[in-house]
Amino acid sequence: MTDFQKNLEKYAEIAIKIGVNLQENQSLVIRASINAKDIVRKIVKKAYEAGGKDVLVEWSDDEVSLIRFMNAPKEALKEFPKWKAEGYAEMAKNGTAFLTVSAPNPDLLKDIDPSRVALSRKTSAMAMKDFSFMMRSGKVNWTALVIPTESWAEKVYPDLTTEDGLHKLWDDIFKITRVATPDPISAWKEHINNLQAKLELLNSKKYKKLHFKGPGTDLTMNLPDDQVWIGGGMTTESGIFCVPNVPTEEVFTAPLKSTVNGTVKSTKPLSYNGSLIDNFSFTFENGKIVDFSAEQGYEVLKKMLETDETSPYLGEVALVPHDSPISNTKTVFYNTLFDENASCHLAVGSAYASCIENGGKMSKDELEGNDLNTSLIHVDFMIGSAELNIDGETPDGKIEPIFRKGNWDK
Ligand code: ZN
Ligand code: ZN
Repeated sequence: MTDFQKNLEKYAEIAIKIGVNLQENQSLVIRASINAKDIVRKIVKKAYEAGGKDVLVEWSDDEVSLIRFMNAPKEALKEFPKWKAEGYAEMAKNGTAFLTVSAPNPDLLKDIDPSRVALSRKTSAMAMKDFSFMMRSGKVNWTALVIPTESWAEKVYPDLTTEDGLHKLWDDIFKITRVATPDPISAWKEHINNLQAKLELLNSKKYKKLHFKGPGTDLTMNLPDDQVWIGGGMTTESGIFCVPNVPTEEVFTAPLKSTVNGTVKSTKPLSYNGSLIDNFSFTFENGKIVDFSAEQGYEVLKKMLETDETSPYLGEVALVPHDSPISNTKTVFYNTLFDENASCHLAVGSAYASCIENGGKMSKDELEGNDLNTSLIHVDFMIGSAELNIDGETPDGKIEPIFRKGNWDK
């Protein structure tokens, strides 16, 4: 086996053992791009070796998606197969695990009318909302990982040949996902323990307010009294610990949606629905985005915020030190999973229900009643930099430094 094949094998093992943590006799659904077939075949094998019951692979193809966006009548973009939405919800209810392998193509839809893309995304988000809710509220174990593609490599490394860029991007990914360590499974366990220590600190502090200050950013938000900081992984209702994002460097919680005030500026480009949004900023008043600007992708951003009434509210606040493996590659990946884990970030749209105590058992109305946002979208955007400071206000009104110059104060 070549070194590359060995690394691919390790990556597949991380996906099954750490990422989704597939249990004996548990079935698995893999959603993957056809560009990911080599690793998907290894993952399927690892799944059965781990005692998995059955594995169903649902393939997608960028070219087919593009042809559809270019040619399908608008009516088709308003429809989503009911059997598929119900099937996913049913599998989730029956204890199936879910794994996504994406092969990003950042500019795939750049020539498609953003309103067509937004319509199609909204249609599928509406149809799959029960399933998404179950994923977000800890009913199923799941994970998502990424593999490079030629078009992605060209975007990240425009000065290299496609082949060299692809090679470099694989190397980055093997580094970032700890594949390139002597014992990746142990390295992951140690990493998860380190994140756990930060969670314990934040969960014991119970800051009632956070204040972000950096170039172009001056933003405050209150946190729920019964806030829960989450990171590294999550334990499902049935007690399975999974790591939904490979890689993951963040600890996060949900703000009280109506308390967000001030302005925040993005520090990395955001790839959304196949388009790039760059150098953008939001101004919040009592939780709602009342003004925004973008040097690139303004229309895409506007459409995104118009998805539903609750889209222009925050659902997530996440802390990531500037000094961390992805950030240290000093590379903009034009991919949210990688860029968000290199940087402190916020998300517009839905909060994760488990970010307040007993949130997993709450309906959407109950979450809204607790001032947590629920929406069809959840879009992370990056605000971290070497110049970001974050203060926390303790329940008895003391102001403490949490981040200084982009990193944990202690
Ligand atoms: Zn996040
Ligand atoms: Zn997020």
